[in-house]
Amino acid sequence: MMNQRYKDLNTYLRSLYGCRVQKITVDAGLSCPNRDGTVSTGGCIYCNVRGSGSGALARGLSVTEQLLQGKRALAGRYKAKKFLAYFQSFSNTYAALDRLQRFYDEALAVEDIIGLSIGTRPDCVTEAVLELLQDYAQKYLIWIEYGLQSASDATLALINRGHDVRCFKDAVRATANRGIKICVHVILGLPDETREDMLHTARTIADLEIDGLKLHLLYVVKGTRLEALYRRGKYRCLEQHEYVDLVCDFLERIPPKMIIQRLTGDPHPPELTAPQWSLNKSQTLAQIWATLEIRDSWQGKFV
Ligand code: SF4
Repeated sequence: MMNQRYKDLNTYLRSLYGCRVQKITVDAGLSCPNRDGTVSTGGCIYCNVRGSGSGALARGLSVTEQLLQGKRALAGRYKAKKFLAYFQSFSNTYAALDRLQRFYDEALAVEDIIGLSIGTRPDCVTEAVLELLQDYAQKYLIWIEYGLQSASDATLALINRGHDVRCFKDAVRATANRGIKICVHVILGLPDETREDMLHTARTIADLEIDGLKLHLLYVVKGTRLEALYRRGKYRCLEQHEYVDLVCDFLERIPPKMIIQRLTGDPHPPELTAPQWSLNKSQTLAQIWATLEIRDSWQGKFV
């Protein structure tokens, strides 16, 4: 009942495959041009050296082994029967084409893997990669996840994102009409952003050929430049109620057909500096649902 106020990923996947489908995170040991010096060496100001990665490949676990481990864990926990291989850490289209193809082929060869979800930057896709993904999309479910974070060029410069909004729009245009599903990542609470800036991001993505959305809270991770700003009092984290209201405002302004893949992030507790409330994901989600109920609102209400 509550989920009907927005289009959630689990319901969508169940409608396609008739069973619970879970994503399994895979680490392919790739890098990021915003860290290795190609675009910048510093990376985004909120990113630590792990780049959201688990480092599993470096610890000697192949893509296949990571997927088999994930299957065992998730089949028990969620009674999942099918799985998506989620290449999450760093930029997963940022390598030579034959190397990427080996990783993707390896994942798709594992039993019950029905497709791929590939996280990357919009400045990291080539025509050759898109053609490869287009081929896979004839047989498998293929999602590409582009980080946009904000539709304000001033914010993107401030967070050292290393690409602008136009670059993102060009990547979406190049990816559309190939059978590849496009998901965009947006962060709420970026430095100096107002509510109006965040709603501008919602309206910008609403006008593009985008199939899915992941919303994240900006939280402060140890060892990042954002942490230095926070400690000097130059960055204030969102309060939980502010974040909840912003998520609801955002959902109201994006099309009802967009599949909501995430409504808040998942900090690693030992790495988190602030805000502490971000560790309580289920409470935040419950407050989002309750707020939509109280407002009697839903995804796309103001589209
Ligand atoms: S694009 Fe991703 S991996 Fe690269 S620096 Fe930014 S957050 Fe880190």
